Amino acid sequence: MPNEIKKVHLVYFSPSGSSEKVLKKIASGINLPVETHDLLTPASRQKEYNFDSSDLVFFCTMTASLVMTKFDEIFGCLHGNGAPFVGVVTFSNTQFMKVILLEEITKYAEKQGFKVSALGAFPTAHSLAASLGNEGRPNADDEKLMQEFGRKVYEKVSSGDYVVHGKINAPEADADKIASYRSVEDGHHVFPFREKVISDACIKCKTCVRHCPVDAIDIENKTFDLDKCIGCWACINRCPKHAISPKGPEVPELVKKFSGAVKVPFEVEMVF
Ligand code: SF4
Ligand code: SF4
Repeated sequence: MPNEIKKVHLVYFSPSGSSEKVLKKIASGINLPVETHDLLTPASRQKEYNFDSSDLVFFCTMTASLVMTKFDEIFGCLHGNGAPFVGVVTFSNTQFMKVILLEEITKYAEKQGFKVSALGAFPTAHSLAASLGNEGRPNADDEKLMQEFGRKVYEKVSSGDYVVHGKINAPEADADKIASYRSVEDGHHVFPFREKVISDACIKCKTCVRHCPVDAIDIENKTFDLDKCIGCWACINRCPKHAISPKGPEVPELVKKFSGAVKVPFEVEMVF
């Protein structure tokens, strides 16, 4: 049965801003009012967000495994009440993560009463260094696809079709790579992605503090609570003075080693 969609909602957990930009580009393909819901800060996740079947809800976050540790909190404040829902991820060089993350997003969204109607994965440049993955992405072609995705999803749910008929491709992944990834994650307390230093360039503007999704930064003492930190690098990417950097020169090498096992092209994927 056709369904009249009256509003588009963009819900994002976007530490470095890429997921927010992707959702806004997707929404530009739909000629409806748009409301945004930024769930990055702990305060934003203390509120309740209620939707219904006249809403079309897009959710996007980045492919970082520790982001999933916050899904109880992120999805806990969203109430679908039968609203059509679209799960979107941005990914740089850990392609297999997009499959894992979209499965988790689907599971959580259904639990919160949404009807998962489409899924999308869009390549964006790696937040540490573009050379580590997807340099120059999203490009103009990606952006056209984002708009097309929005338009197609809108047409689909307006026709009353709330079922995902396709599947995001599980890439021809190197099994050893995934196994090593999982073992690293199991012992993530020793994983250096979360260890950072703040240089003398810091002007104490607190931009990093305001964008940290877990209140892990003590800017007076220039320290990070690594038990809270999810390694999202919002602080690194948003610091106007580039005063925060990963601790240890080994991190870029680890990123390279950690990624790149999947030999398929970094392509946009959309399933309806
Ligand atoms: S964003 Fe950068 S300059 Fe501002 S307080 Fe944080 S580290 Fe210092
Ligand atoms: S301290 Fe950790 S969780 Fe907070 S913004 Fe930085 S990397 Fe993200």
